[in-house]
Amino acid sequence: MPDHLEPSLVASSISSARLALDLTATEFDALNSGVQGRPSYRALFSPHADLPQSLRLWADASGLRLRGLKRLTQDRGGQSQKILFGLPDSYAVESVLIRRHDGHTACVSSQVGCAFACQFCASGQAGLMRNLSAGEIVEQVVQLGPKVRRIVFMGIGEPLNNYEQVIRAIRILRDRRGCDFPTTGITISTIGIPKTLARLREEHLGLNLTISLHATTQDIRDRLIPGARKHDIGEVVARALSWAERHNRTVTFVYLILPGINDTQSDARRLAEMMAGQRARVNLMRWNPVEGIALDRTPDHSLVMFRRTLEHAGVPVVVRDTQGRDISAACGQLWLRDLKGLRVEKGSMQRKTAQPRAAETELQTRRPHA
Ligand code: SF4
Repeated sequence: MPDHLEPSLVASSISSARLALDLTATEFDALNSGVQGRPSYRALFSPHADLPQSLRLWADASGLRLRGLKRLTQDRGGQSQKILFGLPDSYAVESVLIRRHDGHTACVSSQVGCAFACQFCASGQAGLMRNLSAGEIVEQVVQLGPKVRRIVFMGIGEPLNNYEQVIRAIRILRDRRGCDFPTTGITISTIGIPKTLARLREEHLGLNLTISLHATTQDIRDRLIPGARKHDIGEVVARALSWAERHNRTVTFVYLILPGINDTQSDARRLAEMMAGQRARVNLMRWNPVEGIALDRTPDHSLVMFRRTLEHAGVPVVVRDTQGRDISAACGQLWLRDLKGLRVEKGSMQRKTAQPRAAETELQTRRPHA
């Protein structure tokens, strides 16, 4: 590391270099020990596309990349904006910005693809390609702009399946010397991996936790979330409730009601029994059919029966009706036409035209989290 910065050190291509946004403040200090003209740590998180030359010179001299994501497409709908970001290795991930009067919400991805293959989610159809680095997660938030007040891990990928990088990203985002992101403004939405829930319990991060439960029996959950077959449903719930107890918070369980699958009175009663008297609330979600997925719309009477059963047991409950193709409802609504573009041509950033698997054709769906 040089002790001063020279324009001649600017490299024309540093795409393989480490992302500066991967650095914690401590690592940043260590890297810059004794360096004259060093930028502030906060300067790394500037939302401006045109970064100062001094910062660019510093990054080049340090062998770092300042940015790693390239906006490929933007899809606007209502108050939401869905952005497809290209990665340097030609993969792509999606983020959603939801505009609200009290601040914006960034719905971010944590992996390229997903290993869990949930029946109702496009993200899992293509399998897991790779984890995102902490910096690639942080950069999604940075690029979504300075008005972001809440971050939800509901984009592509299972955040607890990329635990190290997700927690590192959260620490970077929360650091007072950098983004200084509000502690309670970050939500991890997960299917609930027992081992990593146990680790999360021991972290002091002030997070919110949402568990995509969707079933009250092991066999139904195994059908809906094939990648989670080895996770005992009772252990998932117990670990999540243990996290809530330890942190004196309420955990949200999301239950997508699917007719003929998980919508009986017995299901509702079991769900109420699981949640009654616990630090838990339930978000009931209605499935709206999408082409290519053989799941039906939940009738009103099922929603009402579930809600009443839960309320009768004293469980706080919210009913959410997803709104078709409007991306204003689309936190995590990941259309497979985008997943066809998980890999894009280097240089041109055009999507590859490789044929999707038969089951993926024209599939468009959402990820039914909170
Ligand atoms: S719902 Fe979540 S865990 Fe399931 S396939 Fe989609 S991203 Fe993965």
